[in-house]
Amino acid sequence: LFISVEGIDGSGKSTQARLLAEGLAAAGHDVVVTREPGGAPGAEAIRRLLVEGDPARWSAETEILLFNAARRDHLERTIQPALDRGAVVITDRFADSTRVYQGVARANLRPLVDRLHDLVIGIEPDLTFVIDMDARAALARGLARRSGEDRFEELGLGFQEALRAGFLALAQEYPARVQVIDGTRAPDVIAQDMAARVTAHLR
Ligand code: C5P
Repeated sequence: LFISVEGIDGSGKSTQARLLAEGLAAAGHDVVVTREPGGAPGAEAIRRLLVEGDPARWSAETEILLFNAARRDHLERTIQPALDRGAVVITDRFADSTRVYQGVARANLRPLVDRLHDLVIGIEPDLTFVIDMDARAALARGLARRSGEDRFEELGLGFQEALRAGFLALAQEYPARVQVIDGTRAPDVIAQDMAARVTAHLR
C-alpha cells in the first residue's frame, strides 16, 4: 500500500505522516515513512540543491527536472523496494506537490510536469491525503517553525492560497485517490480520521 500525505507548508502533514505510520506499525504492519524532496541519500543531496541558496538559481523548468530526479531516486532506492516486500509506504509529499507547486502556483507548467511524470515516474499512490487548512493559519505555523535556511519559506500568503486551491483542485481531478482532510482539528483527531480511512481502504 502506497500512501502520500500532501498539503501546504505548515498544514501538519509531516506530523500526520508520522502518526499514521506509528498507528499502522502498532497494528502490526511493516511501515516505511519517508519524505520528498528526499527520502534516499541521492534524493536528499538534490533536496539540498533545491532548498538552499539563491532563490533565482533554478528556473521553474529546471526545478521540475530536479524534483523528478530526486523522485526517481527516492522511488528506486526507497519506495519500490519497500512496496515489493509488502510494506506500507507513507510519503510526506509525492508527485502531487510538483503538480501544484511547479504546475500551478510557481509556474503554469502542468503539461511539462505531467509529461515528465509519465516518462520517469509513472506510478501514483493508492491513497493520497491532502491536509487542508486556512492558508494564513498554515503560513503562521510554518514561519514559526522554520529555521530560515529554506528559500521556499519566503513566498507569502498569496502563494499559500494558490497552493491550497491547487491541492483542492487535485481532489476534484483524482476523486478515487485523493481525500481532503480537515486539518484545523486536533492532531490526534485528524490521525484517527486518517487511520480509519486507511482501514476502510484495506477492506
Ligand atoms: O515539505 P518540506 O517542507 O520538506 O518541503 C521543502 C520545501 O520545498 C518547502 O518549502 C516546499 O514549499 C518546497 N517544495 C516545492 N515544490 C515541491 C515540493 C516542495 O517548492 N514540489
